[in-house]
Amino acid sequence: CFCKLSEEVDDCGCKIEQIDRLNNYQIHPRINGLVQKDYFRFIKLNLNKICQFWSDDARCSLKDCHIKACNQEDLPASFRKIISLKENQDQVSGCEQTNPLGHINSSLSDESLKAFEDMKKYDDAQDSFCEPDDESNAQAEYLDLVLNPERFTGYKAPHAHKIWNSIYRENCFENTDRVAYGPEKNACLEKRFFYRLVSGLHTSINIHLSARFLHKGVLGQPDVWGPNPEEFFKRFDPEKTNGLGPQWLKNLYFIYLVELRALAKVAPYLEKETFYAGRNQQEDEDTKTAVVDILKIATSFQHHFNETNLFRGNPIEAKKLKEEFQTKFRNITRIMDCVGCDKCRLWGKVQTLALGTSLKILFSGKISSDNQPTKNLFQLSRIEIVALFNGFARLSNSITEIENFRESLSNCKLNK
Ligand code: FAD
Repeated sequence: CFCKLSEEVDDCGCKIEQIDRLNNYQIHPRINGLVQKDYFRFIKLNLNKICQFWSDDARCSLKDCHIKACNQEDLPASFRKIISLKENQDQVSGCEQTNPLGHINSSLSDESLKAFEDMKKYDDAQDSFCEPDDESNAQAEYLDLVLNPERFTGYKAPHAHKIWNSIYRENCFENTDRVAYGPEKNACLEKRFFYRLVSGLHTSINIHLSARFLHKGVLGQPDVWGPNPEEFFKRFDPEKTNGLGPQWLKNLYFIYLVELRALAKVAPYLEKETFYAGRNQQEDEDTKTAVVDILKIATSFQHHFNETNLFRGNPIEAKKLKEEFQTKFRNITRIMDCVGCDKCRLWGKVQTLALGTSLKILFSGKISSDNQPTKNLFQLSRIEIVALFNGFARLSNSITEIENFRESLSNCKLNK
């Protein structure tokens, strides 16, 4: 089967089979449970941002693109508290008690407090690979990721192609003459790295829509959600993809190793987090235990990707390339606001934010290569942490789905 992929992941010295075993038996069961927990299932995003690149004429009205809103009562109390605190602040701005920074920095004047905040924001923005999603924006709302699973929506050409095209052609160091997407000939390591990340993400999205496909009911039968092996084979079979399908699948394993390394690198930082949601004490404890477990596994398997091989050589050139890389990736996160299907936009945002957070961890220079924080303060916001785990959980799920498709192909052969 073309999806057997017995070789190694290029540049990583690691067999696909090894990753399959690690993921399917150790990581996937844990991370799949983790993202159902209160702390990780709710994310506050603004899905109503205006597309900055072209007039947003492509908002589709497909039924399966709709997002189910989150009721206030569904949210854990601690998140509701954040909202009501914010509302209070708006009403009585400047009130000492409702200003969370007031008691910490009471010795600072308003101006120095603002200057300090601006400096912190500037510093964070320098590290970030993503267009920041302003959680305090009035249009941002909590969304329940469990209630809105990533699956087939029917979002397709020409609108979906416009997005992919602009991602690859304008933002992936592309040679625009080529028929298939891919980095220019003889592209440097960093440019190939960039392309493989985006391609791996694309693979993951397309695996999910094939694995959770809508089978239309016939003769009055209801519609049913389930795997669609034909859809998967159509998208990745070498005969149908000019031989490229298996490489796209391998790019999924590549991005998986990159995010796994990022988790390992940030483990000392995340181990100090509480992951408090406050609805159920036992659940919060289980969440913390599951996170620590996953970080331990990630740490034991982290050496297959080494970020210090990138952005080396002439320091001026390397800095310039890194900035270009960061600008291009930020642009991709902005393009997510142009995705015309709300459900695809939601998951597109979560997954690009996860990848952007991984890049921040790997390349901000604030965690050393042996995973120790440097003297500069490294920070992740709640939304970055939630996206990081949910994005990685998507990649992990895609790897298990490839295994399921492999099995369905071999069963099919046996039955014949
Ligand atoms: P596309 O997937 O649109 O690909 C276009 C071209 O890119 C292909 O012809 C091929 O040449 C090339 N290509 C394909 N895969 C890769 C790869 N892995 N690496 C490199 N090149 C590749 N649809 C849903 O049903 N549910 C979703 O949740 C969903 N989320 C989306 C999120 C985003 C951000 C975007 C842009 C699209 C999303 N879509 C989703 C749409 C989906 O990805 C496809 O675009 C759509 O199904 C049409 O598929 P297609 O066969 O025309 O090829």
